Parts: sequence; structure tokens; C-alpha cells
Amino acid sequence: MPSPRQLLRSLCLLPMLLGSCSEVAFEPVNARPLDPPGIYRSWWAEVEACADIRAAFERVSWYEADRLINRETGTEHVGAWWPPHTIYVDSGYLLFEGGVKHEMLHDLLQTHDHSSPLFSRCAGV
Ligand SMILES: [Zn+2]
Repeated sequence: MPSPRQLLRSLCLLPMLLGSCSEVAFEPVNARPLDPPGIYRSWWAEVEACADIRAAFERVSWYEADRLINRETGTEHVGAWWPPHTIYVDSGYLLFEGGVKHEMLHDLLQTHDHSSPLFSRCAGV
């Protein structure tokens, strides 16, 4: 299992190519691969239908972590999306429907931007 620091470095590869790695100070603590709970497939289908965007559930790589910290803002998060298709969920919030759907929506929309009304409509968060 890679240490969080190694993981962070390898995760930075893609954003670095896009020139935005320095803007990202996201740190998952003790991240490990997550076998997504069965209910995630239902939630994915619901978000797909709500957003009217279809994509394969299998494209997402899931991780859980003890804590998800944004070093930049000093805030903690229940979930995080990392482009193109990686989603982290805080271990204590694996079945928090709104939080998981929020990250799913990031993946379907392929943006970090929160201006879309779909976030409140489809995830409630
Ligand atoms: Zn978000």
C-alpha cells in the first residue's frame, strides 16, 4: 500500500499535465481502494437519469480514506473527485447518499465547478 504522500504524488501526474497541480492541495489520509457498495450502482443510475448523462459505472476508481483534507483551505471533506475518474469517500460517510451522489455528478459532468443547478437537483448537496 503506498503511503498517502506517494499516492498524492502519483495523483498529481494528470493535473500537472494540465498545469494545475500547484492549485491542488488535497490530501487523502490512509487512502485504500474501495470495493463500491452495491447501492452505489443504484445511486449512479439515479444521478445519470437526473443529469441526463450516461456513463459506465465501472469507469470510476473508488477509494476510501480516514480523512480527506484540503490543505489549501484547511477544510475536511466527506468526498472528493479527482479527474478524470477517481472518487474518494471518507470512511465514515460511505453510505452518505448526498455526498456520494455529489462526487458522482462531478464525474459525470467532468468538472470541479459547482455552478450547475444539477448539484442541488440531483444530489441535494
Ligand atoms: Zn463538489
